[in-house]
Amino acid sequence: MDKNTVGRIHSFESFGAVDGPGVRFVVFFQGCPLRCLYCHNPDSWDMKSGRLITANELTQEILRYRSFIKSGGVTLSGGEPLAQPEFAEAVLEMLRENKIHTAVDTSGCIPLSRCKNAVDKADLLLLDIKSINPDIAKKITSSEMSGALKLLDYREQAGGKVWIRHVLVPGLTLDTEQAHRMGEFLSRYKCVEKVELLPFHKFGEYKWEQLGIEYTLADVDAPKHSEVAEMRIILEEYGLEVSTTV
Ligand code: SF4
Repeated sequence: MDKNTVGRIHSFESFGAVDGPGVRFVVFFQGCPLRCLYCHNPDSWDMKSGRLITANELTQEILRYRSFIKSGGVTLSGGEPLAQPEFAEAVLEMLRENKIHTAVDTSGCIPLSRCKNAVDKADLLLLDIKSINPDIAKKITSSEMSGALKLLDYREQAGGKVWIRHVLVPGLTLDTEQAHRMGEFLSRYKCVEKVELLPFHKFGEYKWEQLGIEYTLADVDAPKHSEVAEMRIILEEYGLEVSTTV
């Protein structure tokens, strides 16, 4: 592990409460190869911008908040943290040496051959499954890159916890048939501790406008509470623990 490995970060949040258990220091990595229709951080896509920082500098920054995150930990988010696998691995290893719980929030789009070492060092994966239907996943991400299910298989076999994250978008993923397929599929995995359903929102729409990119979901409304509840009940029928942000 090289403490001086350099990475690119977009920003960080010192008191995150929604990206893993407890109060967490969340590091938003710069760069993502996907282009999700609902992304609320399109300014994190560019692989060549962001702030350059070494793994050691980032860890020292995090350690300043150690007492605040002792019941939670650190989450590497983005962007796609596993798109910088050596940097992510170095940060995760240094945090592990300091006995700090770590989570990696990923879409699973980076081939395992590149990111396996970083994956192995994360205490928890927050794995974003865009859709159980590959055609819809492709429509959401504008990409053929869909390694989420392979990453889930790997985690099951290698050991380690996973929380599934799934955004409910009316017209795309807010669909009872997909919920049944996903419930049936996920119920086979012992590594899946819970499923977080995230209702679609448009908080990041202004960033698309600022970047001059067309936001094609402008006319889509957030799902109703009753619709989110219906999806939750379906997944629970398959024995899954489910939480929602509604
Ligand atoms: S994977 Fe995440 S950061 Fe990348 S485009 Fe999709 S929502 Fe945005």
